[in-house]
Amino acid sequence: MITGRAKLAGVIGDPIGHSLSPVLHGYWLDKYGIDGAYVPLNVAAQHIGDVLQTLPLLHFKGVNLTLPHKEAALHIVDELSDIAQRIGAVNTVTVKQNGLLYGTNSDAEGFIQNLRQQAGDPDAYLDHAMILGAGGAARAIAVALLDAGVRRLSLSNRSAAKAQALASALDTHATIVDWQYKDEALADVSLLVNTTSLGMTGQPALELSLDALPQTALVSDVIYNPLMTPLLKQAKARGHVVVTGLGMLIHQAVAGFESWYGFRPETDAKLVALLEGMVMS
Ligand code: NDP
Repeated sequence: MITGRAKLAGVIGDPIGHSLSPVLHGYWLDKYGIDGAYVPLNVAAQHIGDVLQTLPLLHFKGVNLTLPHKEAALHIVDELSDIAQRIGAVNTVTVKQNGLLYGTNSDAEGFIQNLRQQAGDPDAYLDHAMILGAGGAARAIAVALLDAGVRRLSLSNRSAAKAQALASALDTHATIVDWQYKDEALADVSLLVNTTSLGMTGQPALELSLDALPQTALVSDVIYNPLMTPLLKQAKARGHVVVTGLGMLIHQAVAGFESWYGFRPETDAKLVALLEGMVMS
């Protein structure tokens, strides 16, 4: 139940029907007895500017942004956090008291917190990380790994030019691995992250041989539907520590929830089970 004083927030995307964020935030609102609502908002790319500018008029506390709005929002919000600038995308917008829009990005934090929760101290895996993919998720994870102190970074993407562009934007040395030769390049990798959409429900699996990957390496996938992607199944069968993507989604949501509703939520087993029940295992 909400009252006329309910604090309002939501998630904007196109499409938005698949989003688990309303379930996630709805669970926390309920758990903490907060008078608030979090709604899915389907907004086409050409309207994102108008819609974001309207949030203060509607007295919204803020929104999350998902595809295709994360990059566009960089140029719409009034103030940007340092991390959103470095990632080149906004996933969380807060309407400040003075009506200005503050944009930040919690995907990097979500990735690291998830790694910590599922695999312990990330430093044990930070000798050489390889990221597959060079889209929005890859950018956030590259920043997360650099901030966590990764010692070597390799990037491999189907379109090599995008991997090059990502490396330049990161302002650090990253080895670009030809997509064709990524299997062999796994030989001294300690942390492998798939950020491509390959392996997602409805998409072909990522074709990758893990034969060269050291036994001690951690394998992570940002895809959360299915929870165990073909890559993670293969890695688990070989005895690698694996990290699924659902926890990243949960942890990236914390910052927005705290900023809009004034309460830092905690992940619990019931929430994880609820969300796991909504995706394929
Ligand atoms: P983008 O569209 O920005 O990037 C997609 C990436 O996948 C690109 O590197 C693209 O390569 C690659 N790719 C797509 N199709 C193929 C293919 N057939 N063969 C090889 N490579 C391919 O998407 P995002 O980075 O935003 O999202 C990627 C995935 O991460 C999605 O599944 C998304 O759901 C998930 N995600 C999960 C989050 C979480 O919280 N767990 C957060 C954000 C995203 P190319 O450049 O060559 O096109």
